[in-house]
Amino acid sequence: MTHRITILGATGSIGKSTAEVLAQHPDRFRVTALVSGSDVRGLAEMAHRLEAEFVALADASKQKPLREALAGSGIASGAGPSAVIEAVEREAETIVAAISGVAGLAPTHAALKKGRRIGLANKESLVCAGAAFMRDAARTGAAILPMDSEHNALAQALASGHPDDVVTMTLTASGGPFRTWDEARIAAATPAQTAKHPTYSMGAKINVDSASLMNKGLELIEAHHLFGLRPDQLDVVVHPQSIIHGLVHWRDGAVTAGLANPDMKIPIANCLAAERRLTMSVPRLDLAAIGGFTFEAPDEARFPCLRLARAALAAGGGMPAVLNGANEVAVEAFLSGRAGFGDIPRVVEETCAAFAGQAGYEPATVEDALALDREARRIAAGFLPAVSRPAVA
Ligand code: NAD
Ligand code: MG
Repeated sequence: MTHRITILGATGSIGKSTAEVLAQHPDRFRVTALVSGSDVRGLAEMAHRLEAEFVALADASKQKPLREALAGSGIASGAGPSAVIEAVEREAETIVAAISGVAGLAPTHAALKKGRRIGLANKESLVCAGAAFMRDAARTGAAILPMDSEHNALAQALASGHPDDVVTMTLTASGGPFRTWDEARIAAATPAQTAKHPTYSMGAKINVDSASLMNKGLELIEAHHLFGLRPDQLDVVVHPQSIIHGLVHWRDGAVTAGLANPDMKIPIANCLAAERRLTMSVPRLDLAAIGGFTFEAPDEARFPCLRLARAALAAGGGMPAVLNGANEVAVEAFLSGRAGFGDIPRVVEETCAAFAGQAGYEPATVEDALALDREARRIAAGFLPAVSRPAVA
């Protein structure tokens, strides 16, 4: 049977890797819908290549150019939030949720409400509204398949035992491009330097988060929701080779680890497979060629974002959503030259502190989480460096 796939965030890094997996199995998969933010040309090109039935852009102002780019193809299209929801609601077995940031929450949740299988790359869904997502997935029967490489490895390792026998889980981190840098050099890092990830090629936002280790912090929060573990059952080890992605520690002292070359097509293929694995033409793991694995404890003094994410996870309630919203504001400002790399943890810390009085509040719905996100962004924007004004003569 052909398996129908919809990709949310189709023109991004995960979306393109998903398209590469589909291209290796043209008989097995059919594309129902593709969704992107505002990239008309990228989306139209992909829609032609993958013979999609329907495409949607979130940016409502792009309706006309999108229609023109698809003229004569027979591919239906739409633009704006309702078109995105139409894409989600069209019949498909699996929806790949790969929109970046908090913008992914509403479309991913709409897919979950339909009870679809979800290949979840958008970690922000669980970070900001984990309780609501897990509750609604249980209610609708939607399966959440983790696409993030660490969580995918953990889910595979977990299958070798009973979940109640898990003592702890370890997520590995590459350490990012600044792993060996001192504090002052990290604080002065530029956007171009964050783009030099040692083992993966990814979108701009996650590149910055990988460099600050905020990505690993968000992943701890993601793991807490996916696997139902307490914060003290989750830890991080830096493993610069990025071959071991996650480890499950069992009560008898045994450890099951998930290994793979650092290639997102591998966890994506794992999520798209049904009972049997997909055959993938990817380089096989060659341990002798790699030569050695190294490990080190993460340094939370040089990478305070990891400490801040841990604190938000421990605080629980809405604090992870506040942390994420503040981080998105600070990262955007950094990428557009309005803030330094060192401002990111500062803005996040000051924003979380401003919400300390509301620590017990848990957003019960995705709408509540989005409202909290907006409030966190507003407060975080106030902590950004003051805009430099031209001197008045
Ligand atoms: P990206 O920036 O490369 O791509 C983002 C995609 O989302 C693009 O197609 C963009 O057009 C689309 N988009 C943006 N705003 C949108 C909106 N409002 N509505 C609809 N579509 C919108 O990002 P990425 O690196 O592919 O990451 C996507 C998600 O996957 C993130 O949540 C990230 O944390 C997660 N993730 C990525 C990787 C990776 O290797 N890149 C690994 C693990 C998890
Ligand atoms: Mg990851």
